[in-house]
Amino acid sequence: MSGYTPGEQPVIQNLIKLNTNENPYPPSPEVQKMFNTCDSSRLRLYPNPTGDMLRDRIADIYGFKRENIILGNGSDDILTMTFRSFTDSERAVAFVDPTYSLYPVLAEIQGSKTIQVALNEDFSLPDDLEQQAEAANLFILTRPNAPTGNSFPLERVKQFCRNFEGIVMIDEAYADFASDNCLGLVNEFPNVMICRTLSKSCSAAGVRLGFAIAHPQTIEGLMKVRDSYNVSMLTQMTADAILADTVYIKSCLEKVRATRDRLCAKLREIGFKVIPSEANFIFASPPDEDGESCAAFLREQAVLVRYFPGKITGKFIRITIGTDAQIDRLITLVTEKYT
Ligand code: PMP
Repeated sequence: MSGYTPGEQPVIQNLIKLNTNENPYPPSPEVQKMFNTCDSSRLRLYPNPTGDMLRDRIADIYGFKRENIILGNGSDDILTMTFRSFTDSERAVAFVDPTYSLYPVLAEIQGSKTIQVALNEDFSLPDDLEQQAEAANLFILTRPNAPTGNSFPLERVKQFCRNFEGIVMIDEAYADFASDNCLGLVNEFPNVMICRTLSKSCSAAGVRLGFAIAHPQTIEGLMKVRDSYNVSMLTQMTADAILADTVYIKSCLEKVRATRDRLCAKLREIGFKVIPSEANFIFASPPDEDGESCAAFLREQAVLVRYFPGKITGKFIRITIGTDAQIDRLITLVTEKYT
């Protein structure tokens, strides 16, 4: 099998890193304060196995109960548990194409059949989504989608959840950057799960905290396939300090959104095709539709972006939204190359 290829994490310091959708701003200053006062002798003990204090914090923030929440070592861990729980050689998984490239890898590990539903040319959902996904037991919808950055109309997603006879996992890794989300569907449809992460909107990819929100019965099932201590004590403490500072998170989100909209406008001016983005990255195709050479050119200039080979995706590059200064540098470089 071929494993998952993560984005490059270079050791060279002076690269502008716009390749793995991290947040360019540090996490809340409350984290440093918590580190300064924490008692390291507690680390000899195992953590709370289900992270109940943090589950309560998350439940409070989003208006759910502890029983609706399960924690993971990043949302990748939540995805692993979901595949383990709901797919095998007889129960297929479906997802759209293109989307997050980890899903086919998890399916292969689990020995499950996959149904890939091609998106329309503009990366919208096809009208016959229901028919194409019908044979699957699990459907994963990434909203906003990655690497394309666009979202799908909430009403269309609702319609799908109503009709689909299986679990719908909505991967909302980027939802904090979007204008709406699917959290409301959890109470409406018992087959809907939402997956979130602190890696993007909360500036905490290094902390490794993801969580799912779903019907208590679904959470109960997922708990059975979870590694016993899948979220470390350090992660539980850090995530709690981060999530408590909602004002700080909001201020970072606003900055990222403003920079994103500015970059989209500028790239369109230069002649790029830019997919409307609801995430902290944009998917853009240079005027010559050669994503690979664009990514290679930027790399030579010490700017890292992500390139996904493929007939459709190969025409694009994915650019993570950085600080204004980082994005200004990228704009200067592509302006020189393409105008
Ligand atoms: N879902 C999507 C759509 C992603 O792009 C990513 C980041 N690679 C993840 C989940 C995983 O994020 P993490 O494990 O850092 O929470």
